This record gives sequence, structure tokens and C-alpha cells, in this order.
Amino acid sequence: MKIDSFMPSEEECIATLRELRWKNGVRCARCGSLNVKKDGVRGLYQMYECKDCRSYFNDRTGTVFQDTKIPLRKWFLMAFLMQFNVSILEVSKTVGIPYRNAFYIAKKIRNGMYVNQILEKLKGTVEMDELYVTAGVKGKKGQIGTEGGQPSRREVEAPISVTSRR
Ligand SMILES: [Zn+2]
Repeated sequence: MKIDSFMPSEEECIATLRELRWKNGVRCARCGSLNVKKDGVRGLYQMYECKDCRSYFNDRTGTVFQDTKIPLRKWFLMAFLMQFNVSILEVSKTVGIPYRNAFYIAKKIRNGMYVNQILEKLKGTVEMDELYVTAGVKGKKGQIGTEGGQPSRREVEAPISVTSRR
């Protein structure tokens, strides 16, 4: 089973961010005014216009998710995996993003807003009782006596327990 098969869709992740962020109403990302109107949808994001300062913003403007090209669900999955002390290298392989991006995201996640609430939310959507992270570990190259013996590559499984609310 693919590790991200239990993850909510990109739309659902964006809806989660929207819900967390605008709990107390949509506020202008620049001046903080509540005098805001919806201004269409771009991509999957709702756009807003501030009637006071005339600035435009969307659900992720001013958050750690601003300007990211990596889908939100990959951020969420990364945040989820990082709870279990999985190395960034393993996380990058599992999530399917380059190490450099994973490193950057990990840094952002560690001091990011909303991350705890997002994880809280994800707990409710996890349908599996147990989740396994499989990481390929390369054996030593040119090892003597491997012919017909030990495999040069082995799979290591690190069990991760996930508590489901269902
Ligand atoms: Zn404004």
C-alpha cells in the first residue's frame, strides 16, 4: 500500500488550511482588515480582495505555504512523517520530492504556523492502524563474497504506529 494513499486530496488539504486560517473570518494579509471580498479562484486557491487597502491575496498568502510549487498534501505528509523521527532523506523518498525541497520544507514545518492543527486534523483521517515506512538501503559495492550470498540491497522496514480515531 502506498504511504500516501490515506492522505486527503489536495483540495481537502487546501480546505483544511482555509478552515484553520480563517476561523475568525477572512482578514487582509497586508492590513488585517475584515473588509474583504472574494475575488474568484486561481488554480485551487480562493482569491480575495481587501476593500480597504486594495491588496489581493489568497488562502496561503503570508503562511509558510506561500509560493510553494510542492502540493500542499506533500507538505502535510511530510509534517506527518516528521513526527516519527524519520530522516529527511527517507521522507524525501517516501513523499517523492527532491532532498533539497524536503530539507527546505522540513525547516519551514518545524517553525510553521498551523502545523500542529494540521497534524491534529490528519489524525482523524488516518484509516490504518499501522503504517510502514520502507526505505531502501544500499549495500556496499564490490563486497567480497557476495556472489550467491548476501544481497547487495536490502529493504529495511521501520514500523510506525498511527493511532486511528475510527
Ligand atoms: Zn488590506
